[in-house]
Amino acid sequence: MSDIEFSGVTKTYPDGTTAVHDLDLRIESGSFTVFVGPSGCGKTTSMRMINRMITPSSGTITVAGQDISTINPVKLRLGIGYVIQSAGLLPHRTVIDNVATVPMLTGVRRKQARQQALELLDRVGLDRALAQRYPAQLSGGQQQRVGVARALAADPPILLMDEPFSAVDPVVRAELQTEMLRLQAELHKTIVFVTHDIDEAVTLGDRIAVFGPGGVLQQYDKPDRVLAQ
Ligand code: ADP
Ligand code: ADP
Repeated sequence: MSDIEFSGVTKTYPDGTTAVHDLDLRIESGSFTVFVGPSGCGKTTSMRMINRMITPSSGTITVAGQDISTINPVKLRLGIGYVIQSAGLLPHRTVIDNVATVPMLTGVRRKQARQQALELLDRVGLDRALAQRYPAQLSGGQQQRVGVARALAADPPILLMDEPFSAVDPVVRAELQTEMLRLQAELHKTIVFVTHDIDEAVTLGDRIAVFGPGGVLQQYDKPDRVLAQ
């Protein structure tokens, strides 16, 4: 179980901007939860508090019942994959090494880590022939696939995705969305996905948290998700 729970969480930045005010939110283990809403409503701030890239000004966040402020940040982040808009790959490492470095951090030997990396590239639908390229030699959509593989490489129970597909063209975005639904059906991660695109939210989410100024306004369960194929 890796439920995530926000209780009375407020974040005020040093310049006085309150991005999130008194937020209560429960993200269920195994759900595909989408944070949707217009720009500036605190979606990214809320997401980044889950892996402690940002610390709350007040309130608590628990993962699997444990207050994350008591967890070693390195350990916390090994359990939480993170994907951003610009895949965030290491430019001077090949695709396979970008993915393989993650399990190597946990002590997996290089050969085995590279084998795991190839299997992950298969899972995210990236042609193995591209594994020896550098990130700049891939298209935006291919880079995002590698970003997802890298985020999954330590087999974290939680995956955070911040507008991961907003910089790719609509056709590729639709392919990546289908890929995410397939991955979720196979892997049962707890996924938190930020988007300002309501269509994307409805396509992907089984729980949708609609953000307005200062926090979550409403939460919806999608009754029946119609899976593409
Ligand atoms: P969203 O992801 O919904 O676009 P953000 O969480 O990025 O919202 O931002 C929420 C609010 O906090 C916005 O008003 C934004 O300008 C502000 N904000 C974000 N980061 C900072 C920061 N480092 N310092 C000051 N204000 C910030
Ligand atoms: P994202 O694409 O994730 O929403 P943004 O472009 O909103 O990111 O913000 C990029 C960076 O600038 C983040 O580190 C964010 O915290 C910071 N930031 C956003 N808004 C402000 C602000 N009003 N003042 C200072 N820093 C900000």
